[in-house]
Amino acid sequence: MIIVGGGASGLTAGIMAARNGAAVTILEQNEKPGRKICVTGNGRCNLTNQDMSWKYFHGEHPEFAKKILAQFSLEDTLRFFDELGIVVTEKKGWLYPRGGQAKYIPELLLLRARSLKVKIKTREKVLKIYKEQNTWKVQTEGWTYEGDAVILANGSKASKVPGSDGSGYVLAEELGHSVLRPLPALTGLKAKGNFFSSWAGVRTEGKATLWIDGTISDSETGELQLTEYGISGIPVFQISGAAARALDQKKKVSVTLNFFPEYTETAVRELLLEREKKYPELSAAERLLGLLPDKLIKVLQKQKDLCMAMTAFPLEIKGTSGFEQAQVCTGGVDTTEINPETLESLFCQGLYFAGELLDIDGPCGGYNLQWAWSSGAVAGRYAAKEQR
Ligand SMILES: Cc1cc2nc3c(=O)[nH]c(=O)nc-3n(C[C@H](O)[C@H](O)[C@H](O)COP(=O)(O)OP(=O)(O)OC[C@H]3O[C@@H](n4cnc5c(N)ncnc54)[C@H](O)[C@@H]3O)c2cc1C
Repeated sequence: MIIVGGGASGLTAGIMAARNGAAVTILEQNEKPGRKICVTGNGRCNLTNQDMSWKYFHGEHPEFAKKILAQFSLEDTLRFFDELGIVVTEKKGWLYPRGGQAKYIPELLLLRARSLKVKIKTREKVLKIYKEQNTWKVQTEGWTYEGDAVILANGSKASKVPGSDGSGYVLAEELGHSVLRPLPALTGLKAKGNFFSSWAGVRTEGKATLWIDGTISDSETGELQLTEYGISGIPVFQISGAAARALDQKKKVSVTLNFFPEYTETAVRELLLEREKKYPELSAAERLLGLLPDKLIKVLQKQKDLCMAMTAFPLEIKGTSGFEQAQVCTGGVDTTEINPETLESLFCQGLYFAGELLDIDGPCGGYNLQWAWSSGAVAGRYAAKEQR
């Protein structure tokens, strides 16, 4: 069996297929497999989440994730990592390796794969895949590998980690599969305006509400990062995929920021009046000191209605901060053309898919890696059955 891509899903698929008796070769274009895993969770690898459900995933058909997560669940994942020797620790439900270093995850996956005799060929970029007399041929620059089954586990084109080149979409299309246009997700949002240098660098608690064509689509609370191009931070990441999709469909996208989400608008108005009475000698801006970061005060004080600016600061969104800054892609290989139980192509026998290449993506919190582990494990198990 040939696996294209030695990332999170490809390595898991390799281990599972080998455990099920297959002779596996993984082809990885980078010098080292698993490079993206090393940068996950700020170098600490948020490998899954205690609150795992297919309902948190996005895509044209998020329910596609249901049977896959059921076959390789959170418990299976924890057992899998425990068997690799990884002790897991939890922070607000987000799970990380106890050692605090992401780089040991690919290292331990590789050790296990090698112990199961999985062949790992690095610096091998797959250029073409085709079938000849019931045998799959997988062509790289210098060689053509042969197998009874192929798993495409190329990942997406998100991030500047080498290897995130989107070549999996082209390979899938050449094999007759449709690809829903990949767009950046879990990324910052660029807004219209010319004042952003004034607030750049501010980190503050707040709520970001996404509006699409004038209707609320989603809202998220957490640490907002105000940047020289607009907004970032986890709450913005969480709404960015829906914003990217709406912008792609030429819809009007805006975000309102509430810098006092724990108060109602009336309570903020009362708070401002109370401070006006209490500190008559201070200017309006000085009365905000102690409530908000000074750089933010400078921006807010220029607004006509200070209370509105503090609770619903409007931003017109013009784009995302792009694929290079994105953690994942929304979009990918159309799941309606894939068996939701086995991950095999509905029209190419022996062709399987795993990971972010598919039109499934999750929010921050370990969901994308869980998808990679689960889909990799399922594809590996079923593809192993193809071996003649
Ligand atoms: C900065 C950052 C932080 C993140 N943090 C988290 C987190 O904490 N938790 C979480 O759940 N998710 C996180 N993610 C997302 C997560 O890393 C991905 O969803 C996951 O790695 C996807 O796994 P995959 O196997 O589909 O793809 P990848 O892990 O990207 O692996 C694909 C592999 O295929 C190789 N490849 C591609 N094309 C070819 C080809 N033609 N020939 C040969 N090889 C090829 C690539 O080089 C790559 O090694 C983060 C992502 C980024 C960028």
